[in-house]
Amino acid sequence: MSLTARGGAAYYVRAMATKKDARIGELESLIRLHQDLYYNGQPEISDADFDALWDELAELDPGNPIFAAVGSDGAEGWPKARHVMPMGSQEKASDPESFLAWCAKVGHAEYLVQYKLDGASLELQYEGGELARAVTRGDGEIGDDISPNARRMGGVLARLPEAFTGGVRGEVLMPRSVHEGKYADKANCRNAANGLMKRKDGSGSEDLVVVCYDAAGTVPASGELFPGGGAAPFADEAGKMSWLERMGFQVSPQRCFSRPEDVVDYRARVMDRRPGLPYDIDGLVVKGREIDPADLARARPEKQIAFKFSLEEAISTLRDIEWSESGANYTPIGIVDPVRLAGTTVQRANLVNTNLIGAMGLRIGSRVIMTKRGEIIPKIEGLVDNPPGTMAIEVPSACSCGSRLVDEGTRLFCPNPACPKKLRHRIEKWLSVLDVRDFGGVIVGKLLDSGRLRSIAGLYGLEAAELAEYDRMGEILARKILRNLAAKSEVSLARFIAGFDIEGIGELIAEKAIGAGFDSLEKLRGAGAEALAVVDGLGDITAATIVKGLSELGPEMDELLATGAVRILPPAATGPFAGKSFCFTGELKTLKRGEAEALVRSLGGQPKPSVTKGLSYLVTNDPSSGSEKNKKAASYGVGIIGEEDFLRMAGKA
Ligand SMILES: [Zn+2]
Repeated sequence: MSLTARGGAAYYVRAMATKKDARIGELESLIRLHQDLYYNGQPEISDADFDALWDELAELDPGNPIFAAVGSDGAEGWPKARHVMPMGSQEKASDPESFLAWCAKVGHAEYLVQYKLDGASLELQYEGGELARAVTRGDGEIGDDISPNARRMGGVLARLPEAFTGGVRGEVLMPRSVHEGKYADKANCRNAANGLMKRKDGSGSEDLVVVCYDAAGTVPASGELFPGGGAAPFADEAGKMSWLERMGFQVSPQRCFSRPEDVVDYRARVMDRRPGLPYDIDGLVVKGREIDPADLARARPEKQIAFKFSLEEAISTLRDIEWSESGANYTPIGIVDPVRLAGTTVQRANLVNTNLIGAMGLRIGSRVIMTKRGEIIPKIEGLVDNPPGTMAIEVPSACSCGSRLVDEGTRLFCPNPACPKKLRHRIEKWLSVLDVRDFGGVIVGKLLDSGRLRSIAGLYGLEAAELAEYDRMGEILARKILRNLAAKSEVSLARFIAGFDIEGIGELIAEKAIGAGFDSLEKLRGAGAEALAVVDGLGDITAATIVKGLSELGPEMDELLATGAVRILPPAATGPFAGKSFCFTGELKTLKRGEAEALVRSLGGQPKPSVTKGLSYLVTNDPSSGSEKNKKAASYGVGIIGEEDFLRMAGKA
């Protein structure tokens, strides 16, 4: 390879890494944003869309601190070791419909089905038939070498009858009987197993069992995997399981079906049988018979899937209500006795509004059914009963600004337009809608508290030197923040409106009004509620909200525009993309995602962050991938096009 080519390759790798980092940052902030929105009772995306973000981040950056909040398996003090078989993430289906869709896509001739064991993953690494290391999942590539503990666990073989070199994957489990007898203080078996297996003194490891389900041999010299080929001791997935058994490992039962429907039936039977099993399981793992090394090398293998059981439920007791404040709104958050759900301890759940509390008949002391939506967002699904001694839930009556709160049932809010909390929320909303990086809520709070900031317009009068004083951020960061702010000086009318945080009026709603001909701020402000109410998709209430909001915020909008720092872009709804919407997924070759989205806007179209019904096109360079977005687009009948098609439509190719 020539030097130039090397330089080019290095540049390419660097560029890709930067792109990936950018996407990771974007996903982090999206996830945080939507978690906040959810907790404030204003979810903007569906649970499934949220899951898609979560999964994408898990794939790009399994070690991201966001996941630490949910439960990490990091342990101090153990040597680190690299996996022989990297553990990527897994395709998931939690209902028969999405499972059958996956089957239709992969079209396996046979479906090999195993229990999905609910413990902690462990890779046993063998060299010439001797156990060399036992490595926890870690970040999927590097984990903790807990060999001394593993050697004390049931099912771990120190020596194999064959001189095998490679990895054997298993799940560390605590049998339910052991949990009940000895570790009943631990919330569940998985929790107990996770804790015990990493204890430095090794005590308790003898109470754990490793059940194995995967293996791959390596070429001794290079360490390269040859699953299913060359000198590997098995030719296909079924052969792999019999080899594991022959070696003496404990395995979970494997069934083989030729029809996907039979797998669905089997799942239903296993769900019924589940309470009687010796171990916890949380679904089935389904794969084809053949071993496909290329697929296994993917960050998320597509030819196997975790077919999970339906939602896990738990019962807890409602102890208190916290009223979470966001802008003008007060949202009830239920505080419950800690309970284990889908792998984490849950103590808080959004109760959305006072209507919901009333409809479920909840009181302080109620026993409630909890679930976790999308495995992350805890929810109180309903009331079990109200034991004696429960108390009515008190709804707060006054805002911190002194105004009486208004309880509309669907929303509890402070009606005072000058409420300081509203201003803070509005400024944060402006920064978030414009996607101004690094300008966080903490600094906004300090600027407001000190009286330096009294409106959105005030943001544009800030000097780097004074900003640097706040939060001791220093001048370099202060300048960067102001540069980020200045970079977003041109906004579409819809974004401008959405940035002013009128209750329930986001870009989508604003675009509906704009699309109906109210395509300048003047026209919108001149429009009466009757005229807006007949716009498709608006209606009386929304129209009235827009009119009231625009009138209340008129002076602040004028003040902002008068600074000259922000300009509303003229409408482009007449362009070739008028009425069309585009969602981009994966990496594009010739454009950054932001550039592609700007191109869509400039041609009168709308870029969309997720696949929804009514989307015109999903743009992807990997139309055959089994990503959630692709699947969803296909199920909605959304056109899936490549980058070149997109560029051609945009008149750029
Ligand atoms: Zn108030």
